[in-house]
Amino acid sequence: MTDKPENGIDRRDLIVASLAAVGAVTALAASADPATAQGLAAPSAGAAAGKPQGTVYTGEVIQGKKVVSALDVNDLEPGKKHLLYFQGAQMRTGQYWYVSVTVARGAKPGKRVVLTSGVHGDEMSSVHAVMTVMNQLDPAQMSGTVMAVTDISRPAMLVMQRKWPNASRSIDLVDLNREWPGNENGTAPSRHAALVFNRLLRPNADAAIDFHTGTTGFEVSAFNIASMDVPEVKAMADLYPVGQILDMPKRAYPTTLHNALLAAGIPAICPEVGAARVLDLPMIALFVEGTMNVLKQHGIITGPMGRTGKDVRVFVGRGAVPVAATQGGFVEHLVKLNDKVEAGQKIAIQRNSFGEVVAEYASSVTGEISGLRTDVMSEPGDNLAFILFEKPVPDGDETYQE
Ligand SMILES: [Zn+2]
Repeated sequence: MTDKPENGIDRRDLIVASLAAVGAVTALAASADPATAQGLAAPSAGAAAGKPQGTVYTGEVIQGKKVVSALDVNDLEPGKKHLLYFQGAQMRTGQYWYVSVTVARGAKPGKRVVLTSGVHGDEMSSVHAVMTVMNQLDPAQMSGTVMAVTDISRPAMLVMQRKWPNASRSIDLVDLNREWPGNENGTAPSRHAALVFNRLLRPNADAAIDFHTGTTGFEVSAFNIASMDVPEVKAMADLYPVGQILDMPKRAYPTTLHNALLAAGIPAICPEVGAARVLDLPMIALFVEGTMNVLKQHGIITGPMGRTGKDVRVFVGRGAVPVAATQGGFVEHLVKLNDKVEAGQKIAIQRNSFGEVVAEYASSVTGEISGLRTDVMSEPGDNLAFILFEKPVPDGDETYQE
């Protein structure tokens, strides 16, 4: 902005008007308790430590579901399922982004496991995996609680895109999985992350599973991202009958939800359930089986364990490298997901509009294909593939965008 008049209004007039408005706001704020940007009470020391602070009902009911702005699952009636909306970030219209919360509160006390999806808005199989687990639970037979939040990044889900469309001075697309644990006084996506983290997820989790898929234009195999050096995390990841694990130290991406939970002392993993936008029902079934195993391991439900990692061949990647395009043009893959590749093996070729080959791409490592670009046209810098490999990865070399 310059000091030149805009639309006939001198900037000094705007400043004077703004100062008057600030005075009014100060007068209002002086009579209120210390508050966050949303006018909610600041989190207490207990909340900051992740302890439940009690359930707060806003008094509203949306489509038959009561609305809460804070939740302690122990306040809910045992032996039943509870469907609620949690009040997330406020919009400039004055309304809120709500997220859907399903709580299966067991008849008997026990561990609390949190299942989440929709941190990215185009990852449908992750949502369906969580719904399927919840639909299989009978709270009357459970010891402990399972809470599901299926649509965390509501505005991204609204447009079925990876990122949160945030409008401040201009439209930004914000990756919510680079915002955790968030800031209750930050931008809308950061505020939303902090409210969800501080008042819903963290206080109700003894363990957590944040489901994802590949992203639009880039599909992935079935795998779990897990910090295998944390015993409780490894124990969960080993219970899934899926063929790949990416052993990712939490320092690699500290602002992802599962790593923020881990940093808060809550064992958490990040399953990746195939391609974005679609439902992959056979692959979803593997993750449902693994998640039911986790609930059995935590004593929440009973019954024989399903298939686990012991029943399938699991490739544990200590790192993952991308293969990036160096040219623009049309890419043809020479490998499929889960294929084993050798260092130096050709994995893709690229042609220009004349059909001439302009680039050939080879794997730099020996490992397994875990992600492939599905959008055929690519430009320099686009990731064409990502490959799990066993050798320990040097610091900062993690490149997979979960
Ligand atoms: Zn994701």
